[in-house]
Amino acid sequence: MDFAENLNSIRQRIAAACARAGREENSVTLLAVSKTHPPESIKLAVDCGVLHFGENKIQEAKAKIPLCPGKARWQFIGHLQSNKVRDAVELFEMIQGVDSLAIAKEISKRAEQSGKTMPILLEVNVAGEASKFGYQPELLLAELNELNALPKIEIHGLMAIPPFAPVAEKSRPYFQRLRELKVECEKILGVPLPHLSMGMSGDFEIAIEEGATIVRIGTALFGERLSSVRRPAD
Ligand SMILES: *Cc1c(COP(=O)(O)O)cnc(C)c1O
Repeated sequence: MDFAENLNSIRQRIAAACARAGREENSVTLLAVSKTHPPESIKLAVDCGVLHFGENKIQEAKAKIPLCPGKARWQFIGHLQSNKVRDAVELFEMIQGVDSLAIAKEISKRAEQSGKTMPILLEVNVAGEASKFGYQPELLLAELNELNALPKIEIHGLMAIPPFAPVAEKSRPYFQRLRELKVECEKILGVPLPHLSMGMSGDFEIAIEEGATIVRIGTALFGERLSSVRRPAD
């Protein structure tokens, strides 16, 4: 498992997917999903030129981020509970996975107390799975203006985690759905939304073909996560 080799291969695959889609390579940000991996792994990644990292547990991020190189920039990609919002606002430069008005209000309130404005992505449950977090599309569209009116959040786009599919191509309709939904949101808001966060180790090329601007890649970069370091949900 050689990080530099993995990174090189992923960068090439990102470039090839961009070329197929007629997109600029720099239109896609690689978010290295470092959950469960130690600060040494992040240091290695930073040394290889990776800048953006994703974490999904507040407790883990709070312990780990101070031990990592200051150059590293962090996005929260997990499910946020209201009692963790204050920490999230301090630790992260973007919060992905916002899926209710209540949590968005809490983020805005805590950001105001910290003298910040917080960029967020709204998470959509694109397949309507009962077991998944994320907005139902209809509710998102209904609440969008109210979300957008919150003073200290900035809606930067949408994110989704489609159902697990052993065949990457099966994710394509969900990525298309998320892209279409972004267009609907842009119509309601009257402004363009820059980001679509979609695509993981198994399907990021398809996501890029469908317009992803942020791909969240863990396993294909860092290797398998150890189940022994799994933690209870934050
Ligand atoms: C863990 C995780 C990823 C990365 O998954 P891999 O399959 O390891 O690339 C991406 N997005 C979210 C929200 C995650 O929790």
